Amino acid sequence: MKELIIKGNKSTSELLVGESIGNLGKYLPSGKVVVITDTIVDSLYRNFYRQFPVIEIGIGEQVKNLSTIAQIYSEMLKLEADRSWFIVGIGGGVVCDIAGYAAATYMRGLKFGFVSTTLLSQVDASVGGKNGVNFEGYKNHIGTFNQPEFVICDPEMLKTLPPREVLSGFGEIVKHALIADENMFKYLEDNYTEAINLNSEAIEQLIYTSIVIKSGVVNRDETEQGERRTLNFGHTLAHAIEKCTPEYTHGEAVAIGMAAAAGFSFRQGRITSTELKRIVALLKNLGLPVNTTIPKESLIAAMQHDKKREDKAINLVLLNGIGKCEVLKMPVETTIELAAALDFIDG
Ligand code: NAD
Ligand code: MG
Repeated sequence: MKELIIKGNKSTSELLVGESIGNLGKYLPSGKVVVITDTIVDSLYRNFYRQFPVIEIGIGEQVKNLSTIAQIYSEMLKLEADRSWFIVGIGGGVVCDIAGYAAATYMRGLKFGFVSTTLLSQVDASVGGKNGVNFEGYKNHIGTFNQPEFVICDPEMLKTLPPREVLSGFGEIVKHALIADENMFKYLEDNYTEAINLNSEAIEQLIYTSIVIKSGVVNRDETEQGERRTLNFGHTLAHAIEKCTPEYTHGEAVAIGMAAAAGFSFRQGRITSTELKRIVALLKNLGLPVNTTIPKESLIAAMQHDKKREDKAINLVLLNGIGKCEVLKMPVETTIELAAALDFIDG
């Protein structure tokens, strides 16, 4: 087991990579505890937390809304929960985002922790203290910055995940390597088969390195004033893809977005053609898509209506080599060139 610390503005978070859900009790305070989880996770793992009351939410992105938060508040009231209670969110990114937001707001804030059960949430969603829900079609529009007391990342739990959900996590793993760590990228090139087969050593190594990168960025810029924006690499196009079609998982959309951003970085002379080829080859070897048949005009229109856009500019993350990146403020028309970069990505 490996441990990492995030020092947030309000509290400190302990990230436990390779810890088992069986040891959850070690990290809980002595008072009352309530578990928030989803239907699927509950059906698989209830035995590990059967001593606690459970608030169950439905499945998937469509439950990430204020009605679910209201349902949680009601159930907490029925349990007569007060500020001394501790909330444990057990699940993927959806559960962690919802449980974190409920914990931050119920009676002005309760302490909470996570058992992160998907690869995407272990390497990304449960790390960094952002939480929240979607509102009127805007993703993660309502939320807070608030660090959990602990995050347990148990790689054994990934074995029950559908393969496509595993793959989705790899999108964000590759992102971390590309923006910050060339050695991690080489490790992925050499070990991608072991990694996608969830070989314990390989997957634990990749989760750990991913969290080192993300927690480092969050420690330096918790509230996204600057450096944290580098974590949006590949996401400008990915968000547009997700607006156009529900066909891709988040990690798949990010993979296509990264291929385009890498292509654009090449066009700008920031990476070599060999580097571009290596990036595309790794994504393909992992089984991730690198291109899409969605019409360019639809992608451009979706990118130009991104809520994160400031004035007539976009913040675009480009590579300056493998493991190095830069956030650039560019005119919104640059989205046309970004989409066009897909033309020379051989998908
Ligand atoms: P998810 O939580 O919907 O989980 C995916 C599916 O896997 C669900 O059906 C879930 O029931 C199932 N599942 C979970 N653990 C399982 C297990 N161990 N075995 C079998 N099935 C299991 O999706 P996700 O990909 O984990 O997270 C996506 C969410 O995370 C999005 O809402 C996104 O906005 C959010 N997110 C948040 C942050 C952040 O910083 N807060 C960062 C990235 C993503
Ligand atoms: Mg993402």
